Amino acid sequence: MIACDCATCRSTDPRDTRLRPSIYVETADTKVLVDAGPDLRAQALHHDIRRVDAILFTHGHADHIFGIDDVRRFNSLMKRPMPCYGDAQTLADIRRTFHYVFDPGTHKGGGLPSLQLLLVEGPLRIGDLDVQPIPLWHGDRPILGFRFDRFAYLTDCNRLADEAWGLLEGLDVVVLDALRDTPHPTHFSLDEAVEVARRIRARRTFFTHMCHHLQHESTNARLPAGMSLAYDGLVLE
Ligand SMILES: [Zn+2]
Ligand SMILES: [Zn+2]
Ligand SMILES: [Zn+2]
Repeated sequence: MIACDCATCRSTDPRDTRLRPSIYVETADTKVLVDAGPDLRAQALHHDIRRVDAILFTHGHADHIFGIDDVRRFNSLMKRPMPCYGDAQTLADIRRTFHYVFDPGTHKGGGLPSLQLLLVEGPLRIGDLDVQPIPLWHGDRPILGFRFDRFAYLTDCNRLADEAWGLLEGLDVVVLDALRDTPHPTHFSLDEAVEVARRIRARRTFFTHMCHHLQHESTNARLPAGMSLAYDGLVLE
């Protein structure tokens, strides 16, 4: 948090230094980003990301799409437009927020990201990666989580859609939104997230999208077995 002296913001534990939430999913043949937040450039440099075959967008909030300008680099590396998957609202948000990208009157020469907007209407396949969209509620706004085989990523939600539960059986790992201890109108609190995690029954649960109210080590110490906070750079095989 800018200009904060709380225990998390002053912590020397690197797991308390958090950039905006995003994940990178790799299979043998396919590399996919989920979301392109404002920290995309720093994250891609730090983790030496050299290839992105597609971006799956959960929703169009600033902390999930404001890295779109940096897709230019992946356009030149991949030598093609970037397939960008999202629901109708998210694609509309991207068109509106980055209107200059889609405006034929934009002056050429500054460099524009080349985006191929693709509507998510159900399960899809990108290369050898099967993607199951998971309907979530982020306040009164429907958004998407994503399941890949026995892993699911459910950020920015305070409720799972009724259809979601049946799509989340047999998970090894779930990553779930947990903003802070006190309730919030669009994100799960930690207690709410723990209850949802118990119902999902994945073997391991990682919480994400925490704010500075949740310090890494002290929060982990009070979580049930099999549940912990995620952290920047966490790698799961
Ligand atoms: Zn703080
Ligand atoms: Zn959001
Ligand atoms: Zn967010």
